[in-house]
Amino acid sequence: MPIRILSREVSAQIAAGEVIERPASVVKELVENSLDAGATQVEVEVRGGGVKLIRVTDDGCGIPAEELSIAFERHATSKISSVEDLSHIGTLGFRGEALPSVAAVASVTLVSHPPDAVGGAYITLQNGQEAEEGKQGAAPGTTVLVRDLFKSVPARLKFLKSASTENARILQVLSHYAIAYPETKFRLLLDGRLAFHSSGNGEPRDALVEVVGLETARALLEIGLVGSQGSVEVAGFVSPPDLTRSRRDAIATFVNRRWVQSRTLIYAVEEAYRDLLPRGQHPVAAVFIRLAPSEVDVNVHPAKAEVRFRREGEVFGAVQLAVRATLAAHSLVPLDAGPIANVLPAPPPPPRDAEVALEAPPLFLLTTVPALSREAPLPLLRPVGQVATTYIIAEGPDGMYLIDQHAAHERVVFEELQSARREKGVALQGLLNPLPATLTPLQAQALEAETEMLRLYGFQWEPFGERTVLLRSVPPSLREGEALQALLDALADAEDGRPVPLEERERRIAASVACHSSVRAGQVLTVKEMESLIRQLEAARFPRLCPHGRPTMVHLSSAQLDKQFGRR
Ligand code: ADP
Ligand code: MG
Repeated sequence: MPIRILSREVSAQIAAGEVIERPASVVKELVENSLDAGATQVEVEVRGGGVKLIRVTDDGCGIPAEELSIAFERHATSKISSVEDLSHIGTLGFRGEALPSVAAVASVTLVSHPPDAVGGAYITLQNGQEAEEGKQGAAPGTTVLVRDLFKSVPARLKFLKSASTENARILQVLSHYAIAYPETKFRLLLDGRLAFHSSGNGEPRDALVEVVGLETARALLEIGLVGSQGSVEVAGFVSPPDLTRSRRDAIATFVNRRWVQSRTLIYAVEEAYRDLLPRGQHPVAAVFIRLAPSEVDVNVHPAKAEVRFRREGEVFGAVQLAVRATLAAHSLVPLDAGPIANVLPAPPPPPRDAEVALEAPPLFLLTTVPALSREAPLPLLRPVGQVATTYIIAEGPDGMYLIDQHAAHERVVFEELQSARREKGVALQGLLNPLPATLTPLQAQALEAETEMLRLYGFQWEPFGERTVLLRSVPPSLREGEALQALLDALADAEDGRPVPLEERERRIAASVACHSSVRAGQVLTVKEMESLIRQLEAARFPRLCPHGRPTMVHLSSAQLDKQFGRR
C-alpha cells in the first residue's frame, strides 16, 4: 500500500484510544473537567457498566454557548496557552483532548449554563462530528451525557470486562477524587442505585470512611507536619503497623491533588514501614504531596496517570521521612526517624511482588539455607516440641525442621478447599445466627462481582438493607468468629476491579478462607496435634510454601548443626 495520511476519523480514533481506554477513563476525564471548573457538587450516573450511559453533572463555571463547538476540537483548552505554561500546570486537564476523544468513540451531548449567562445551550455530536447545537434551559453548570460508548469500536468493546468490573473501576475513580477533593460533594449512581457519596464537608477522613470503611478510617494516623522539607509538603493518612493489607494497592498517592500511580511515592511509603510489617504485608495509606507545579511533569502520558519529578530523590525522602516520623510519634517503642531526606539518592526500583514473596529469610549466621523447592516431597518428620507457641520443632532424617504452625496449617486447609471445590463443591456450614455485614461501596461492588465464586467456596448471604448483607453460610473450616473477616479479606483482594485471571481470583478467596481457618501463632499445641498437622502437611502437594508464598518451614541439616558446634 502506498503511504497515505489517515483520514480525520481514523486518526481521531487512534488518538482517542490513548485517552479513553474504558468507561472509567471517561468518568475520570469528565470529573477532572468538573473539578477544574470549580464545581462544589459532582454527580455521576452510570448505566450498563458505562457502555450504555455515563452522565456527569456539575455546578461549575460552565462553557459559554459560543465556545461549545470549539471545546470539542482536538487541542482546544482554556487551561494553558503557551509552551511555558506546560512547565507549571495547576489544573487537572491541559491537553485539550478529553472531549474530542470521548466524542470520537461515543454519542455525546453537552449542556452548559455559565452562572452569569442568561440561559443554557447544548451541543450534540455523533462519531466525532457536530450534529446539533441550540439553546436549552439548564441549571447553572455543565452536564455531559455519553451514550453507546465504543459502539463504533467493536474491538475495544470486546476487551471490556463485565459491567460490575467496569463499575468497580468507576467507583475507584470517584472515591479517590472524593478523598483528594473533600470539599466537593460527590454522588455516584450505578444503574439507578446510589453506590457512593461523599459529604463535601472538607474532612478527608470522612471521605476515607466511604473508601476503606469506618473502622479502618478511624484507625489511620494523620501525617503530622514535619517542618518544611525543602519544597515538598506531605500530608495524608497512613495505617498503624498492625493494620495491613496483603496487597500493595491500598496505597493511594496524590500529587497536587491529582490521583497518580507513582512507583516512587508508593515505594517511599513502603520504605517508611521497613522492619515494621510482616513480610508480604502492606500498609493502607492516602498520601498527598504538594510541590511547585514546575517541579513535576504531568505531561508524560495522555491519561495523565503518571508523573515525573524533577528532583525525585528529594520527593522520595520527604515522603519517607514524613511517614516514618508519623509512625514513630505513635509508636510505643522508639523508632529511628529514618534518613535525612535531602541526601538520599534516587530510589532503587521497587521489587516485584513475586520476588518478595519467594525470597527465603536468612536463617543462622554462617550457614546457608537450601533453596526452598516447591515440589520436593517432605521427609517423615517427628515433632519434638513447640517454641514461642508459634513454631513446631521437628526432627527428620537429616536434621532439624522449624515449622511455622499457622503457615503450615494454611497450606493444608488451602489445598483441602481447592480440591473440595474442584470435586463436589465446598460443603456449606449454615450459621444458626446469620451474621450481618456492613460493606463499603467498594466491598459491595466486589461482592457483586464475585458472587458466583464466593458461593462455590461455601459463602451464602442475602441482601439486608442498603450495603448490608446477612451471611447465612460459610465454608465448614471457618470458625464463626472469623467468618466475617475472611469474607472481607477475600473482598479486599477482589475490590480493586483490576482484571484478574479466574485462577488467581479463586486462589485469593481460598487463601483468605485458609488464613482464617488455621491455628494461630500463640496457640498451644499438644504433641498429638502437632503430629496430625505434620502428617497433613506431608500429604500436601506444595508443603513448603504457604498460600501467600511464605515458607512454612526452615531446615537446619545435621551437617549445618555439626558445623555450628565445631564438630566438623
Ligand atoms: P482540557 O481539560 O485538557 O482543557 P477537555 O477536552 O477536557 O480539555 O475540555 C476542553 C475545554 O472545555 C476545557 O479546557 C474547558 O474550558 C471546557 N470544559 C470541559 N468540561 C467543562 C466543564 N465541566 N465545565 C466547564 N468547562 C468545561
Ligand atoms: Mg479535561
